[in-house]
Amino acid sequence: MGYHLAQRGRPCLILDAGDRIGDPWRQRWDSLRVFTPARYDGLPGWRFPASGWSYPTKDEVADYLESYAARFHLDVCPGERVERLSRDDGGFMVAAGERRYRADHVVVATGGYQAPRIPSFAADLDPGIVQLHSTQYRNPSQLSDGAVLVVGAGNSGGEIAIEAAAAHHTWLAGRDTGQEPLRAGGWGDRVLTPPFWFLLSHVLTVRHALGRKVRQDLSHRGLPLARVRRKDIVAAGIERVPRVVGVAGGKPLLDDGRTLDPGTVVWCTGFRSDFSWIDLPVFDDEGNAMHDRGVVAAAPGLYFIGLFFLYAGNSSLIGGVGRDAAHIAAHITAHQAPHVAEDQALSIAEHQAADVDTRRAPNISGLPVTLTRSNLRLLRSIRRRGARGPSPGR
Ligand SMILES: Cc1cc2nc3c(=O)[nH]c(=O)nc-3n(C[C@H](O)[C@H](O)[C@H](O)COP(=O)(O)OP(=O)(O)OC[C@H]3O[C@@H](n4cnc5c(N)ncnc54)[C@H](O)[C@@H]3O)c2cc1C
Repeated sequence: MGYHLAQRGRPCLILDAGDRIGDPWRQRWDSLRVFTPARYDGLPGWRFPASGWSYPTKDEVADYLESYAARFHLDVCPGERVERLSRDDGGFMVAAGERRYRADHVVVATGGYQAPRIPSFAADLDPGIVQLHSTQYRNPSQLSDGAVLVVGAGNSGGEIAIEAAAAHHTWLAGRDTGQEPLRAGGWGDRVLTPPFWFLLSHVLTVRHALGRKVRQDLSHRGLPLARVRRKDIVAAGIERVPRVVGVAGGKPLLDDGRTLDPGTVVWCTGFRSDFSWIDLPVFDDEGNAMHDRGVVAAAPGLYFIGLFFLYAGNSSLIGGVGRDAAHIAAHITAHQAPHVAEDQALSIAEHQAADVDTRRAPNISGLPVTLTRSNLRLLRSIRRRGARGPSPGR
């Protein structure tokens, strides 16, 4: 988003709750690699620096995102968690801790994987059972003695179950999510991936009936297995069991009436959105943002990006987000406010000036707060002053 706004002369501030760019990737489990080959892991303007058919590690992805922000001089403010977004005099007020930002345009880029989704009955499990969500799992050293129950048989569940099975009896509970036709990385996959990516980008979009059907189907179940194959799960000695539907006597209860006795339960049950900090009437009854390709009609100036199937099947993937960002940047440019009062820009500019010497590695993603060209000039002049120290009388 920052790249495409800068391309159109519309720089932005990027507020990010994290300490360091790429932290959502760094914090995933140690052995994770992307399931998309490097040639489809590039953001606009700079391809992923690895062999096109390699599968970067999660830390390599994080480092790429960090380097990307530095390369394009994106103005990122780490450690700025936005706690409230509301309307303010025709624009928006963004509250982050003690700071207030006023913006004509706000793009919510907080990701499609915000809050762990864990069934409420998990609270009734025996307290002696260690429970982790996939976002908390790093490696098998966290697993307690005894058997492991992995709940959710999508990609996260499959990968974590295989690691657990090396030293524990492991159950993998949940519906089979299917698997991609070929193993990632093989020659067949190299042949099939380009047409599949084309399909994801141009056919499976919300403009086509097929795309809408696939979006509907996939929003209620895990994605097909990509790196892990069904036969890997069998070869690892993992026992497939039905869905976990509740708790009986402190133990997980399966759909077939059996209870299990695990030492650890790993919830690979996905994520839910958390937009509780957005104080605007832009959500449907299920809490989903109502938008058309990221543009929110009910709150002009507000945009979402990076959501699952925002526009196409690859909208929430690194290699697919650029097109949506270009669309939103074009919309912002076309609906540019004729004037943004200088004092509004000043609050942003002062923030920048204060940060100029102390900022650590910039952080990507978050909430771009857009500025106009004139405000950027003002910002730069204040920034120069900030770098020299405050001028007398200021
Ligand atoms: C296990 C797993 C594997 C994946 N594998 C792949 C893959 O192989 N290939 C692929 O393309 N994609 C993959 N994805 C999807 C991947 O996460 C996205 O492609 C991409 O990283 C999402 O980027 P994002 O910036 O939209 O969201 P995120 O990377 O989640 O970043 C969101 C940012 O918003 C910040 N934030 C959140 N709330 C606030 C707030 N209130 N105020 C300020 N900041 C806030 C967070 O600190 C964070 O830095 C995977 C996802 C998961 C969960």
